[in-house]
Amino acid sequence: MTDTHSFELSGIARPLNVEAMLDEICEHFVEHSEVSRLKDKAVLTSSQSLIELFQKPDHLEIRLACGSEEELEATRTMFAEHLYYFAGEEPFSLDWSKPAPRVRPANLQEAVVISTSEVTPRMLRVTLAPEDMTPFINGDIHVRLLVPQAKRPPVWPKLRADGRIDWPKGEDKLLVRVYTIRSVDAGKGQITLDIFQHPAEGISTPGADFARDALQGTRIGIMGPGGGGLPQTDQILFAGDESALPAIARMIEEASPETKIKAIIEVEDKAEEQPISSKARISIEWLHRASCSEGTTNLLAERTKAAIDSMEAGTFVWFAAERSAMRNVKAYLAARGHDRKRQYVAWYWEEGKHADD
Ligand SMILES: Cc1cc2nc3c(=O)[nH]c(=O)nc-3n(C[C@H](O)[C@H](O)[C@H](O)COP(=O)(O)OP(=O)(O)OC[C@H]3O[C@@H](n4cnc5c(N)ncnc54)[C@H](O)[C@@H]3O)c2cc1C
Repeated sequence: MTDTHSFELSGIARPLNVEAMLDEICEHFVEHSEVSRLKDKAVLTSSQSLIELFQKPDHLEIRLACGSEEELEATRTMFAEHLYYFAGEEPFSLDWSKPAPRVRPANLQEAVVISTSEVTPRMLRVTLAPEDMTPFINGDIHVRLLVPQAKRPPVWPKLRADGRIDWPKGEDKLLVRVYTIRSVDAGKGQITLDIFQHPAEGISTPGADFARDALQGTRIGIMGPGGGGLPQTDQILFAGDESALPAIARMIEEASPETKIKAIIEVEDKAEEQPISSKARISIEWLHRASCSEGTTNLLAERTKAAIDSMEAGTFVWFAAERSAMRNVKAYLAARGHDRKRQYVAWYWEEGKHADD
C-alpha cells in the first residue's frame, strides 16, 4: 500500500470456484483499471483504489486500499456488487474485517429538479441542483438516478454489512436508472442529464417518463459519479447510439486540441443530430436508423467494425449501445487481438428488457 492509499480493509470471498472468479474479475476490470495478474494473485489499480486479490484453496482474500474513508466505502460497495453479480445463482459469501456501517451510501446525495428542456425532438435535458457539487467537478461521468414513488417522501437505501446496497422495497421502491452527466456548471451549482425518449407500444419506460414529466422542485437521489470518462490518449474512435450520445458529446467537448477523434453516432433521423463543439480534431459521422431498410438492426456495429479496420494502430475504441451490438463489436476487437487496455466496450440497454429486470 502507498501513502496515498492509507485507508484499508480486508475481506474473504467464498465463491464456488475461486480461480474462475479471479479470472472473471481480471477479465472485467481490465477496461476500468490497470490489472496485473500472477498465477494466484491479481492487483487492480485505479486512480481511486488499490485492490489486491489472493487465490487460496477455498476462498479469495481481498485487500482494499484508498485515499479516504469515503472512497474506501464506495470501492467496497462497487466491488461487493460486482462479486455477487459474477457469482450469479451460485452459492457465495463475503465477509469483511470491518462490516459496512448501516448508513446511507457516502456517494448518494439529494438533488432538486431545476428545469427540463428539449435538445432534439427525442432528447430531453433535465437540469438538477445537487446538494454538493464537489464530486462532479473533474469527476467521473455517470450517475445512478434514484426517483422516489410519486407523493411519497423519499426513503434512501442503506449499506448491508457486506457492502452491497440494501434497496428500499414495496411502497418505498425507487426507480433506479443510469445516466451520463452531460454537463457540469460549477458556478450555478447545476448538472444536466440528457434522457432519450424511446416510447414503444405497450412497454413502460419509467426512466424516459421521468424526464418527460419531471416537475421543477422534485427531489430525487443521485449516486456517483462513477464509470470513468474521457480516455487519456490522443487517438479515439467513439461509437454509440442515443444512450451513449451524452457521454460521447461530453467527452468530445472535453478533449484537448492534440486529440484526433472519429465519432460514429446512430440516431433516428436528421432531426436528432446535435451540434458538438470541440478543440480537438474531430470528424463525426451520423447514422440514421430511419433511412435503413426494415429489420436492419446492426447498422452501428457494422459501421464501427469498418472504422476499426481503417483506424490507425493504437487508437482507443470507445463503444456503447444495445447489448447485442456491444457483443458484436467486442468479439470483433477480440478476434483482431485489439489491446483490451485500449478499449471501453459497454452495453447501455438491452432490447426487450427493463434496466432493472
Ligand atoms: C453507463 C450508462 C450511461 C447511460 N447514459 C445514458 C444517457 O445519458 N442518456 C440516456 O438516455 N440513456 C443512458 N443510458 C441508458 C439508459 O440507462 C437505458 O436506456 C435505460 O434502460 C432507460 O430506462 P427506461 O426506464 O427509459 O427504459 P427501461 O424500463 O429500462 O426499458 C423499457 C424498454 O425500452 C427499451 N429501451 C431501453 N433503453 C432504450 C434505448 N436507449 N433505445 C431504445 N430502446 C430502449 C428496453 O429494451 C425495454 O424494452 C446509460 C446507461 C448506462 C449503463
